[in-house]
Amino acid sequence: MSGRDSQGPADDALRAVKGMNDILPPDSAKWNYVEKRARATFENHGYREVRTPVVEYTPLFVRSIGDTTDVVEKEMYTFTDRDQRSLTLRPEGTAGAARAFLEHSVHVKEPVTRWYYSGPMFRHERAQKGRYRQFYQMGVEAYGVAEPTVDAEQIAMLMTLFGDLGITGLETAVNNVGGPADRPRFRDALVAYFTPRAGELCPDCQRRLTTNPLRILDCKVEGCKALVAGAPSILDFLSDGSRAHFDGLRRALDALDVRYVVEPRLVRGLDYYTGTVYEVRATGGELGSQNTLCGGGRYDAMVGELGGPATPAVGFAFGMERLVMTLPGDAEGFEIPADVFFAAHGEPARLYCLKRAAELRARGFRAELEHRAASMKAQLKRADRLKARVVVVVGESELSSQQVVLRDMKAGEQRSIPADDLVPELKKLLR
Ligand code: AMP
Repeated sequence: MSGRDSQGPADDALRAVKGMNDILPPDSAKWNYVEKRARATFENHGYREVRTPVVEYTPLFVRSIGDTTDVVEKEMYTFTDRDQRSLTLRPEGTAGAARAFLEHSVHVKEPVTRWYYSGPMFRHERAQKGRYRQFYQMGVEAYGVAEPTVDAEQIAMLMTLFGDLGITGLETAVNNVGGPADRPRFRDALVAYFTPRAGELCPDCQRRLTTNPLRILDCKVEGCKALVAGAPSILDFLSDGSRAHFDGLRRALDALDVRYVVEPRLVRGLDYYTGTVYEVRATGGELGSQNTLCGGGRYDAMVGELGGPATPAVGFAFGMERLVMTLPGDAEGFEIPADVFFAAHGEPARLYCLKRAAELRARGFRAELEHRAASMKAQLKRADRLKARVVVVVGESELSSQQVVLRDMKAGEQRSIPADDLVPELKKLLR
């Protein structure tokens, strides 16, 4: 067998898997900025980080996300490992978090748990702008609180974060998809509405009419969307309890000055949602149809259905790629340049600079040095490219006189200073 047959096209070794991206500097600076701000915001609200594996046993996702959702039916990266177990690369973060919550009996240790997570998710979707096969999500989950004020607090937390990031032109849509008690009547109403119109539905939705009619509401095919616009509204089928919860959510959002619209046909693509669901979308910008930045809601039944105690839960996840694309500003502007760049002439000077750079870093400065034997002109050019704030020049004469040359790159001025004064002089310049 030729190498080509056994390993696929020869150049596959040289390109990333379709729909999976490398994130290189300077773009990674923008990612880091978003992650840092998000972590700070989540922690400020009492959320602590959880890290779960990237792979789980397949039944976890089938049972929690739902076996008739697009994610489970068409999009999972499922494979058999060497122990003949079916594993799946996680398509989202909620199921793994709930599994960890249950497996470690966290509910026994604390009445309320607030977690956040960050990491790659995998779905075999049609790759396009804003839609990838490996994408990153950051999300939060709160367990143990049934009250709608926590749902509202999460939505307001998102608004705070997006506002801090300078993202404007957002639209927040909320709905209540009812609980297990409300669903059968709504399901019947949907079937009664769509059955006479089944001929106009896409083949997937014709199937969904018997397997999972609620999923028709989430179909992206234009013909189905037109029919969905006239479909019954879940809000007319809510029990008193669900209705009171939804009213409570709205009062809390109003109290927090969060602007939102009620969208009675918003259901989200995952089956585990009960009660509150919401989406935050970018109304302008380059995302086009992939403009949903964040999705979230309640999943009060999941922990119980996985075999744990009944535990109310609510959370959201946003896509990092879409958020970074919406974030104003060039990626370069997010990079943090060096405070100090050492330009050395000759090996003794380089060894001296190597040591001084380490000393400065230990004191919290960002310091770089040129390791290659290059001309002073080339070194200064490189310092300029790196946007270093100050260059410290050391050659043989500086070494023997125990001086260094300090060059202020912004002012374009330089002067000799005693080597011992480097730290206080730098502090003055960088203040
Ligand atoms: P979901 O987990 O489907 O509720 O999606 C939550 C958020 O994750 C979406 O609003 C997107 O920002 C992001 N997301 C979901 N799927 C993808 C994907 N295939 N590519 C990029 N981002 C995604």
